[in-house]
Amino acid sequence: MDKHSNKFGYDPQDNLASILPAVIAGMISLSITIIATILFYPPADEAHRNILIVYGITGCFYLGFYYRNYILSPNKSKYAWYNAGIAGSALGVLPLLIPVELNYLAYALVFMAALATSVISSRGPAYCLIVIVSISHFVFYLNHSLSLSGWINHIGLVISAFISVETIQQLKTISQKQMSRLEIVNEVSKQIVSTLDTKQLLALLDAELQNVLEADTYYIGLQKGDELLMELFYDDGEYFNGTNVKLEGTLANWVLQNQKVLFLADIRKAEPLEGVKISLIGKPKDSLSWMGVPMKGIHVNGVMAIASYHANAFNRSDFELLSNIAQRAALALDNTYHHALVQEQARLDSLTRVFNHGYFIQKLREQAEICRMENQHLSLIMLDIDYFKQFNDSFGHSIGDEILINLCHTIRQHIKKTDAVGRWGGEEFAISLPNTDIQQAIQVAGRIRETLTSIKINHNNHAQIPVPTISMGIAVFPEEADEIIKLIDLADQRLYTAKERGRDQIESTPMFQ
Ligand code: GH3
Ligand code: MG
Ligand code: MG
Repeated sequence: MDKHSNKFGYDPQDNLASILPAVIAGMISLSITIIATILFYPPADEAHRNILIVYGITGCFYLGFYYRNYILSPNKSKYAWYNAGIAGSALGVLPLLIPVELNYLAYALVFMAALATSVISSRGPAYCLIVIVSISHFVFYLNHSLSLSGWINHIGLVISAFISVETIQQLKTISQKQMSRLEIVNEVSKQIVSTLDTKQLLALLDAELQNVLEADTYYIGLQKGDELLMELFYDDGEYFNGTNVKLEGTLANWVLQNQKVLFLADIRKAEPLEGVKISLIGKPKDSLSWMGVPMKGIHVNGVMAIASYHANAFNRSDFELLSNIAQRAALALDNTYHHALVQEQARLDSLTRVFNHGYFIQKLREQAEICRMENQHLSLIMLDIDYFKQFNDSFGHSIGDEILINLCHTIRQHIKKTDAVGRWGGEEFAISLPNTDIQQAIQVAGRIRETLTSIKINHNNHAQIPVPTISMGIAVFPEEADEIIKLIDLADQRLYTAKERGRDQIESTPMFQ
């Protein structure tokens, strides 16, 4: 769309189609006016008659020319102003040429010209045309004492022409707003489908909701058990992202359970909904309009909602827009969740669900870097099961697998969420403990070792199998090794020292043994 047509809010082709009836009617009215004047009210002299004929023919040609050339004009705004001047002046002098009895035909022409100008251009040229015509007619009628009904007709014409122009402008404003909303929605849709990052997707949806819907509050909440996790939550200029809201009794819960849209134009007057007790979330301010749409995908089940502190703030087109955005958002969120899941799988060891060797090293590097910057310790524990080959030989590989899974479960019980555990290979594991000094690391290692001894594994549903012991080596970054590779080597050496010393023990910094 070029910048001029954009300004007027319509596509030029649409404008042309919509003014065609007015142009044809204009040609017909003009021809009737001229023919009727000549046939029924013959002008007194030849010159007047000729002027009328020339006026009629030129007028019809001008209308055709105007219609055809408007689309070709590179500067439609300027063109509209020229036309207002030309058509306004031509229609302004028409009463000079025709008898008073045919004035209504001239009025019809003025009316159509004003409407057509309003459709294809902005308010200014249309008003300009009406004003030029009105002033010319006014001056003319003042000199040709017009009857009272003539004046009333004339003033009525001017008022109704202004009202019609204004109505068309209002319709254009609404349509323009709708178009720009759809343009934003289309633009964001394109970006959304190619986004695989959940955070980025939520930022796009945030901008979209902010730009296309005039809501005081909006959120994207995903169901997590009996709570709604607000992935995005905006309320009156503030974000409350990441908050959890109990679902029970909420409007969102109604939407989730019924999988239906809910549109409350005025919450105060709404029929009570079963199981819903309206309560405040976000800021302590009551919303009066509320609209919620379900977002259902394979990985997501949630609600997208908008609200306003005013009653009747939303209309049907907002509702359709929200449903449209919510549907695409559900698909896009599903995509990003699926992608995250696949990425997560690629980082994990398939048997024990701890990090695989490659990802553990990457994680260890990141953690070490942070600890270096924050002047903190990072302890690394290398852990190996004692005589595991023998264990497998005695009890079978699947029991061995069970031991590995149990071991990882035990490790997780004793470490923090910010720590990391990875399968180094076979029955050897690595545990990184950021912000943890050697004494704390020895304690963690000791607890893991102790807990393992208390695990009971049933063999063939009767005999209990003795769980194998473990050996561990610990080293601390950056005091003992200021590089990741050196840290791993040192912890590994200590692990083998533990093995050499008889297994089932922890080997660490000599002074802490
Ligand atoms: P050490 O005390 O010296 O560590 O003796 P070990 O027998 O544990 O050491 P070794 O390296 O000789 O044997 C490792 C064994 O770990 C060999 C293999 O049977 C077992 N193992 C490695 N990966 C798996 C696995 O995924 N599942 C099972 N069940 N066993 C595994
Ligand atoms: Mg071993
Ligand atoms: Mg081993």
